[in-house]
Amino acid sequence: MKNAITSNLRPQLLGRMTQRAVVEALKSQGPISRADIARITGISPTTVSSAVTQVLNAGYIEETDAEISGPGRPGKILRLARESVQVIGVSVEPEWCEMVVGGLDGSIYEEHSLRFLTPNTYARLLAEIEKHARPWIDTPDVKTLGLGLSLPGLIDPSGELTVFSPNLHQTDDQHPSHDLRDRLGFSTILIQENDALCLAERRAHLAEDLAIIDYSGGLGLGVITGGRLLGRHIGLPRELGHITVDPKGTVCGCGNRGCLETLATDATFARRVSLKIGRTVTIDEAIRLATDDPAAFHSEIEAVLDYLAIAVAMTANLFAPPLIIMHGRLLNIVPNLLDCLTSRAAVRKLRPFREKCRLLQSTSTKAQGALAGILDHLFEELGPLMPTNV
Ligand SMILES: [Zn+2]
Repeated sequence: MKNAITSNLRPQLLGRMTQRAVVEALKSQGPISRADIARITGISPTTVSSAVTQVLNAGYIEETDAEISGPGRPGKILRLARESVQVIGVSVEPEWCEMVVGGLDGSIYEEHSLRFLTPNTYARLLAEIEKHARPWIDTPDVKTLGLGLSLPGLIDPSGELTVFSPNLHQTDDQHPSHDLRDRLGFSTILIQENDALCLAERRAHLAEDLAIIDYSGGLGLGVITGGRLLGRHIGLPRELGHITVDPKGTVCGCGNRGCLETLATDATFARRVSLKIGRTVTIDEAIRLATDDPAAFHSEIEAVLDYLAIAVAMTANLFAPPLIIMHGRLLNIVPNLLDCLTSRAAVRKLRPFREKCRLLQSTSTKAQGALAGILDHLFEELGPLMPTNV
């Protein structure tokens, strides 16, 4: 079977596929030897060895000092590079931007993670990102291979143009990945924030089928099915937040009234808390106040939870993913809120889905998702995946 499929491929393409197979094996298995890679992929040791040399030269993998012993020649242990190269993840959100830096193995250097207030102009946003990235890029003996940029809103199918962002209009009709590439001089990709979260959670849960509901600022939906992002760059699935649920409701950032995202988010909760206490508070402050005294904000929590349950039921009825991951902060206020949401959403789901679609709290940030996105992009650039039935 292997020869039947691969004999028609051009040698150059086959070489690139083998390089991809090497990094995918290290991604899924962790540090292993050349012999292990050959065994796992079913590719001959000689071909693996040649591909390993090429990805070593490209800086994607490193040889560690550890050696394996046993029958035959001792072999060095290989791993995805994390000392000589790095990648950067950036998320731009309505209140804050977050930046992280990490290795090709997906590890994040937590001590370097940082946040800054989101600038209100596009030019200042690019300048701030460059200012914070520059010390990382200028680190001696470490090469930066790429940057992933997570943004809310709609992104053109080309993956370059931001079309429209209801809560972040300073990025509308811009080409941020192109502009950052010009400034920084390395590969930069733009990724929609819900897609970014999906990629991060896929790595965290090793799951190939999941949905993410991001209720932190707006209300967004991302879906991975069979390991692939659904409707990458542009498409209906991620605009769950702009479905009208209250025709006479509050005006939304998109211009309509009563969109689900005006009722089911951390931002909604902050507005309700502001009304209650008679002054405007940020999401940070609203969550802090409610965490200190949950009983005082019981009705505000309940009101948001009701609409969040509608978002969960919609997602279950449309996609029935085995896992729905909730990204936001309201559910952290008291420990049992995730269970409350599960039972409240079950009532609204179609009966066959009531016991399905397990709910979990997100463990990832959008900046981590942006980093996962640039890693996937770099690996995809190496070459296509080997056919699975080889
Ligand atoms: Zn809307």
